[in-house]
Amino acid sequence: MAEKMTHIQRCLASLADEPVDRLTVYPIACGVSRRTIGDGTMTYKEWCSSPKNYAQGLISGQKYFDLDFTVGLMDLSVIAGDFGSHVRMDEQNTPFVDDPVIKTVEDYETLQMPDPKKGRSGVILEGTKIFAEALKNETITSGFLEGPLLSLTQSASAEKVFMDMYNNRSAVHKALGTFTDYLKEMVKGMGQAKPAACMWDYLWGSYSCLGDKEYDEFEGQHKYAGSLNEAVGKEGMALAIHNCADLPHLDTQVKQMKPAVYTMAWYPLIPGSPSASDAIGKGYADNCVLCGTIDPQGFVRWSQEKMQKVTMNLIQEVKTALCARGLKSRYTIASGCEVPPTVTTRLENIKEVSDTVKKYGQVTC
Ligand SMILES: [Zn+2]
Repeated sequence: MAEKMTHIQRCLASLADEPVDRLTVYPIACGVSRRTIGDGTMTYKEWCSSPKNYAQGLISGQKYFDLDFTVGLMDLSVIAGDFGSHVRMDEQNTPFVDDPVIKTVEDYETLQMPDPKKGRSGVILEGTKIFAEALKNETITSGFLEGPLLSLTQSASAEKVFMDMYNNRSAVHKALGTFTDYLKEMVKGMGQAKPAACMWDYLWGSYSCLGDKEYDEFEGQHKYAGSLNEAVGKEGMALAIHNCADLPHLDTQVKQMKPAVYTMAWYPLIPGSPSASDAIGKGYADNCVLCGTIDPQGFVRWSQEKMQKVTMNLIQEVKTALCARGLKSRYTIASGCEVPPTVTTRLENIKEVSDTVKKYGQVTC
């Protein structure tokens, strides 16, 4: 079936819950998109350390997979690295922190804010400007930033931060304040780079880690995250949130924070983990485009046939739930988290998700 809408028309219709020619689609293909450039041999290290390569991957990936959105997700060690943690950077694997900068209680308090234009934060800001400009007439673009609590756990280890929330509360707050100040500068930089949206990774809003009270105190809409969400709006960008936790704080992160787009995962083996139809049925798509929930590991492990089947099942589930709720299009068929940026990810599986939505994603209630 011929496409009747452009990517941008379809995304805007979905944001407004207006009729679409088919559902929007966005397997979160970011780092892996470098493999669609030229002969496909660009390493992850080359991709994530150069604004030009980073942007080129996202631009090329959008065209190759024909995606409705483009999100500039890099990896979760960017800010910790720029603050002085040591990041292990292999050629082809996702980099990770192997020596966090915060080791003592004093370290939380003396944390120094780096220049956001330098380091990999600088790569993101400069690269976002390039891809946002190149794709502004093609897709809805979004910058991507790690939230304050995630920046802190990456800089100190999650175990340490969760213990210090009780034992050294004020030190933890001091560090969160420093990260929030830094992230406000990053939001200003994002505003100048001009993507349509800015997406936060708020993955600690998860009932398997923190209750409502703790999340409100250490990130929440009335705390650090709230001021950052507001800053995004002031810079003229739409608010988007990614949280691939098993038990996400949907009331806080969807109903209170009011993002335009919320991307989530689903863990079928964990009791209470909300599926796409649960989330739609409970009203979380009433004012927000929900995205999810294909298992990212499927892009490595599954055959193309299995990926098609999973995508078809999700489309069916989403259509039924949207119609039952009286909604027309406020859902994006997406992966629950980033498609693994490894060399073992099957590019044909990413394409399969996109093609299957084109074929079977029409909503008729
Ligand atoms: Zn994720």
